[in-house]
Amino acid sequence: MNEFDLIQHFFAAQKHRPDVLLGIGDDAALLTIPAHQSLVVSIDTLVAGVHFPVNTNPEDIGYKALAVNLSDLAAMGAEPAWATLALTLPNADENWLKQFCAGFFNLANQYQVQLIGGDTTRGPLTITVQAHGFVESKHVLRRDQAQVGDLIYVTGTLGDAGLALQQLQNNIPPNNYLLQRLNRPTPRIDMGLELTKISKCAIDISDGLAADLNHILVASKVGVKINVDQLPKNKHVTSELALTAGDDYELCFTIAPHYQNEVTKIAAKLNCPCTCIGIIEKPPGLRLQYADGSECNIALKGYQHFC
Ligand code: ADP
Ligand code: MG
Repeated sequence: MNEFDLIQHFFAAQKHRPDVLLGIGDDAALLTIPAHQSLVVSIDTLVAGVHFPVNTNPEDIGYKALAVNLSDLAAMGAEPAWATLALTLPNADENWLKQFCAGFFNLANQYQVQLIGGDTTRGPLTITVQAHGFVESKHVLRRDQAQVGDLIYVTGTLGDAGLALQQLQNNIPPNNYLLQRLNRPTPRIDMGLELTKISKCAIDISDGLAADLNHILVASKVGVKINVDQLPKNKHVTSELALTAGDDYELCFTIAPHYQNEVTKIAAKLNCPCTCIGIIEKPPGLRLQYADGSECNIALKGYQHFC
C-alpha cells in the first residue's frame, strides 16, 4: 500500500459524526462546535522506550495513546468529540498498524470520538494524539478552583499501574488486572461530566497523586491534609506507590462538603468508586496523616518540597 491507501485503509473507516463537515482526506478537517460550548483541547506524546516499554503490544499502545488524552478531557469535565493522530513509524508494518488501530478505535468508538486527521512520518516510534471536546465554560473543572474546607476525592484505586510497572522492571509478570490497569486505563469521562454539576476543581492523576494534587494546591493557593489510611488501593499496593506512582489516570477532585451525598449517588450510578481522602486547608503544602491523627512520614521521593 502507498501512504494514501494506508491512511484511507487504516484511519478513515470510522462512522462520521454530524459535526465533522470534512474529516480525513482533505488538507485539514472542518468542524462545527456546538453553540454556547467551548472547545477543550489536549495533546500528549508517547515515545517508545520512554512512555511505554518497547515490547508493549501495538493494540495497547493504540488504546493508551487515546486514553491518556481522554483522561485530560475528563479532568476538564469535557465531552470528547474528535481526535487527531501524528504517527512516526520506523516502517509501514501493516500488521502493527492493524493492531494499533484495533486498540485506538476500540476506545474511540466507546466514546463516539472520530479521528479527523493526522500526519504519518518515518522515524523512531512516536505517537502523538490530540483530543478535542466540548464543555460549557462556566461548568469547566479547573486546577485553580479548590476552596478551603472542600473535601478532596479520588476515583478508583491508586498505584495499580505503578505496581505493574515495578513488577515488569523486576521481571515479575504482573497479574492480568494490574496489566490492564497499566495498559488500558479507563478515562473517567462520565465521571467528569457528572462532576461539572457539583465541582469546580479536578485534575487527572498521571504523575502520581502527590505530584498532581500539588498542581491543584499551587494553582488554588491552598494546602491539603491527606488521611493516608483512606487512600483507595489494592492488596500489595503500598501507600508510597499510591502517592507517587504514575499512570493511574484516575480523577482527583474537590467538592464543598454538602455535596458528599451527591458524590455517593454519582459513584453508585456510574459504578465508579469515589473515596474522600482529605480536606483542603489554608496553610500551603501537603500534609500526610494516619487515621488516628498522627503524622505520616512517607518520603515522597522527588517531592520533598510538599512536606
Ligand atoms: P498533507 O500533505 O496535506 O499534510 P497528508 O498526506 O499528511 O497531507 O494527509 C492526508 C490526509 O490524511 C489528511 O486529511 C490528514 O489529516 C490525514 N492523515 C494523515 N496521517 C494520518 C493519521 N496518522 N491519522 C489520521 N489521519 C491522517
Ligand atoms: Mg501531513
